[in-house]
Amino acid sequence: MLSDYIDSHYARTRLALPPWPAAEGEIEVETCVIGGGLAGLNTALTLAEMGRDVCLLEGKRIGWGASGRNGGFVGAGGYARDLASLVRAFGVEETRILHDLAREGWQLVRRRIETYKMSGIGRKDGILVASWFNDDDGLQRHRDFMARHFDREYQFINRAAMAEMISSPRYYGGLLDREGFQFHPLNYCLGVAKAASGLGARVFENSPAIGLDLAGAEKRIATPGGRIKARNVVFAMGGYQGGLYGNLHGKLGRAVLPIATYVMVTEPLGDNRLRQAIRVPYAIGDTKFATDYYRPLDDSRILWGGRISARLREPSHLKAKMLADLTKVYPQLKGVDGDLAWMGTMSYAGHKMPQIGTLGPGIWYAQAFGGSGMSTTSMAGLLLAAAITGQDDRYRHFARFGLGWAGGDLGRLAAQMTYWGLQLGDASRVARKN
Ligand SMILES: Cc1cc2nc3c(=O)[nH]c(=O)nc-3n(C[C@H](O)[C@H](O)[C@H](O)COP(=O)(O)OP(=O)(O)OC[C@H]3O[C@@H](n4cnc5c(N)ncnc54)[C@H](O)[C@@H]3O)c2cc1C
Repeated sequence: MLSDYIDSHYARTRLALPPWPAAEGEIEVETCVIGGGLAGLNTALTLAEMGRDVCLLEGKRIGWGASGRNGGFVGAGGYARDLASLVRAFGVEETRILHDLAREGWQLVRRRIETYKMSGIGRKDGILVASWFNDDDGLQRHRDFMARHFDREYQFINRAAMAEMISSPRYYGGLLDREGFQFHPLNYCLGVAKAASGLGARVFENSPAIGLDLAGAEKRIATPGGRIKARNVVFAMGGYQGGLYGNLHGKLGRAVLPIATYVMVTEPLGDNRLRQAIRVPYAIGDTKFATDYYRPLDDSRILWGGRISARLREPSHLKAKMLADLTKVYPQLKGVDGDLAWMGTMSYAGHKMPQIGTLGPGIWYAQAFGGSGMSTTSMAGLLLAAAITGQDDRYRHFARFGLGWAGGDLGRLAAQMTYWGLQLGDASRVARKN
C-alpha cells in the first residue's frame, strides 16, 4: 500500500503535485541519495544543477520526515550547538567558518525559492527571540558577540517595545533577527524535489532502501521493486533510521539519537483575538533552554512548537499539553482550541553538530541536523555535491565532529534526563533572574 503524509497543517495545505513513482527494475546512476528530507533533496538538487546523474529514494513521501513537518523557522546561520560553545572549543576563526557555511545554506534557501519560483512558500522575514529572563545586559552582550564575530545584526528590543509587539506576562526584552525567516517547509521540500526532477534527477517515493552492498566501486541498493547500481551513495536518513526502516547502515544509525518533538496549530483565532497576544508577523522563539517556538499564520491560527522526548511514540493528549504550554505564555488565550498536533523526529549527534562526510570511496552521509536543519541541510547538499564532483573538500570542516556512538537507549535516556534538568533549570533561572 502507498504511504501518505501524517496529518499535519502542512500536509493539509500542501501543493497539489502528482506523486513521484516508486523505483522499479534495474536502475544505473552516478549517485543514489537515500532519504527524501531536505538533506537528501538538497544534495540531489545541487548535483542535478551541476548536470550530474542522480536519483533519490524516499521510503514514504517527499518531505515526509522532519523536513516537512517542522516549525518552519529558517535561521540565518547557526547549529543545534551554540556558537559560543564552538568558539570555546575551536576558536573564533574556525567557528566563523562554520557559521558562514550555515549562512551560505540560508542564502541558498532564499535563492532557490526565487530561482525556481516556488509557490505556497509563504516566506516572512524576521525571527524574534523573546526573553523569559530580566537580563537586558545578557541580551545586549549576545547581540554584540554576534556582531563582532559573525557580522550579524540583531536588534535589541527592550521590555516596553516587546510589550508593543506581543502581550505576555512571561517576557522581558528580546532580540530581533530580521534575516531569519519562516516558511511552509513541506511546500519547500516539494519545490526542491520538483526543481531537481525538472533538471533530470530521478526522484522516487515509496521506495525504501532495504538492502545494501557497498563493497567495490559499484554500490548496489535494493528497494522493494528496484535494484540500483551507483558509483556514489549518499545516506540522508535523519532520525528515521532503525525502527521504521530497520538499521540500513549500523554505523550511521548508531551515531545519531532520534529525538521526538511536537507542533500544534490552533483553530483560527480571528484577527482581533490574535492581536490580543501577537501583533507582529515574526516567527518567535524564547530564551529558555527548553524552548517554545511559534508563529502566527495568515489565517489567524498560531502554529506552536516545543517539548522534546526520547520516547518516539506520540504522547497521549498531545494537543491539550501543547495548548497548556501556549496559555502559560498567553493566558488571555485560555479557551482557544487546538486543531491538530503532530510529532516529528530529529536526529542529534552527541556533539550536537551535523555529521557530514565520507566513509570511504563513494560512500557519503549527511545527518544529525538536530532542531536547526532548514539552512544547514542546504549547506550539506552543497558541500556533498562539491565533494562528490571533486570541486572542493569544504565538508572536511565537519570531519572533526565525527560519527561517535550516540549512546543508543542510554543516550536517549540521558537526553531525556538532560531535557527535564533543563526545564528545572529554566524554572530556577526564572526565579533567580526575575
Ligand atoms: C517538529 C519539528 C520541528 C522542527 N522545527 C525546526 C525549525 O523550525 N527550524 C529548523 O531549522 N529545523 C527544525 N527542525 C529540524 C529539521 O526539521 C531537521 O533538522 C531537518 O528537517 C532534517 O532533515 P533530514 O533530511 O536530515 O531528515 P528528515 O527530514 O527526517 O528526512 C529523512 C528522510 O529519510 C527517509 N528515510 C529514512 N530511511 C530511509 C530508507 N532506508 N530508505 C528511504 N528513505 C529513508 C525518511 O522517510 C525521511 O523522509 C524541526 C524538527 C521537528 C521534528
